[in-house]
Amino acid sequence: MIQSAKDQSSIKTDLAFQRCINPDCGASYDTGQLHTSCPKCGYLLDVAYDWDRLEVPKNLREFEARWSERTNPVRFSGVWRFHELLPFVPQSEIVTVGEGQTLLQQTDAVGKFVGMDAGQLHLQYEGMNPSGSFKDNGMCAAITHANMLGAKRAACASTGNTSASLALYCSATRLMKAIIFIGSGKISYGKLSQALDYGALTVQIAGDFDDAMIRVRQVAQELGIYLVNSVNPFRLEGQKTIMFRVLEALRWEVPDWIVVPGGNLGNSSAFGKAFMELKELGLIDRVPRLAIINAAGADTLYELHERRGVRWNGGHVNLDPIREYMDYMDQNGIKADTLASAIEINRPVNLKKCLRALEFCDGVVRQVSDQEILDAKAMVGSGGFGCEPASAASVAGAKILRREGVIAPSDRVVCVLTGHELKDPTATVAYHTTDQDLFNETLGSRGVSKASFANKAIAVPNELDDIIKAIQLYA
Ligand SMILES: *Cc1c(COP(=O)(O)O)cnc(C)c1O
Ligand SMILES: [Zn+2]
Repeated sequence: MIQSAKDQSSIKTDLAFQRCINPDCGASYDTGQLHTSCPKCGYLLDVAYDWDRLEVPKNLREFEARWSERTNPVRFSGVWRFHELLPFVPQSEIVTVGEGQTLLQQTDAVGKFVGMDAGQLHLQYEGMNPSGSFKDNGMCAAITHANMLGAKRAACASTGNTSASLALYCSATRLMKAIIFIGSGKISYGKLSQALDYGALTVQIAGDFDDAMIRVRQVAQELGIYLVNSVNPFRLEGQKTIMFRVLEALRWEVPDWIVVPGGNLGNSSAFGKAFMELKELGLIDRVPRLAIINAAGADTLYELHERRGVRWNGGHVNLDPIREYMDYMDQNGIKADTLASAIEINRPVNLKKCLRALEFCDGVVRQVSDQEILDAKAMVGSGGFGCEPASAASVAGAKILRREGVIAPSDRVVCVLTGHELKDPTATVAYHTTDQDLFNETLGSRGVSKASFANKAIAVPNELDDIIKAIQLYA
């Protein structure tokens, strides 16, 4: 726990507070401290609000008026222009680097690949954020809170993007020092290069992400360092705004489906909370269905929700199958294994919150192979913006749900593309390569057998005639 070093009166503890998600506990704590789990019962916490005493717009359209105030950095931010829906901080204390300027793109080429009617598939490009992933939506909220508490050090464990985001916010704002924990080997160079370049203290643990996550929680506790992993409920407040921007881009119409990759399950949990609150506030009249997509090599949520029937159940989660499955993984030495490194996580810390989101949004979980992920990624890339492998799980998952008939061709579907294409060029180059050895080494060894949508370079002798002939043949 980290106590505020600042004057408590600057923090509106009565209007915003932290509340345990366990309905049998319901303990609440003020915002002048960070808890990453309930001190009473160990469950996760939410940031909760006394909406009746806060000024909330009567209609989502009122947020459009903010567009004309874009010279104010708080209004420019795609997160903070929705400040009234995450009001845990006074406007004067908001930290922003201009995050959340992201696009909702309608694409029929990818729509056809998924099996949708024309006009029905949308891609939310969160890779357009300052550090290249959706993590910035949450990081600006976490750093804002850390700064409210007067924190001088912030830490996270990361498969890459959380650390890139934390490192960026710390270096750009100079408010605190970033300390990042990474596992050995698996982090992509695009992401690691950001953390190093932005000057974060980088601690490489001899273990995987799940190991790094356990250690960073211990170290943060021991040294009183502010923890920004998605067990931090303030971070998830920022991530709610991805859904606000999706609604905004659809002119405040609610889509039928939100499809999102699932790793530590912070994003899906935040989306569920966004819709719970919009519904409670009467700002929407129905909620979209949620589809969370695991990689087949890191499919704990799929296993628990779809195979073992684990449900939120009004907050009374049956913990036995969860414990049994975790024990089974331990006993058999099962480690997460997928090319989609951002979702290579077998012990998702937000599991219970995510189950709540699945219940509220009548959600489903699916798993997709690395082959399906890379094919979907190639289709997204050929559409012009591109994404990293984990992001394409959403498109691959939508395709499966369409094939199963769970998603109808006429449904309006939004797939969230969580990270930028340049985060992980290794997989992209190996997919499109003409070098069979490179393909085998990078992808073949991970169970990917073909590259159906590869755009291969053409090899030509260094002769003008040959070059001209080759171009005329292909273009
Ligand atoms: C962090 C991350 C995810 C997983 O999000 P969770 O909130 O942990 O489920 C997916 N894709 C990318 C690119 C990420 O950086
Ligand atoms: Zn509790």
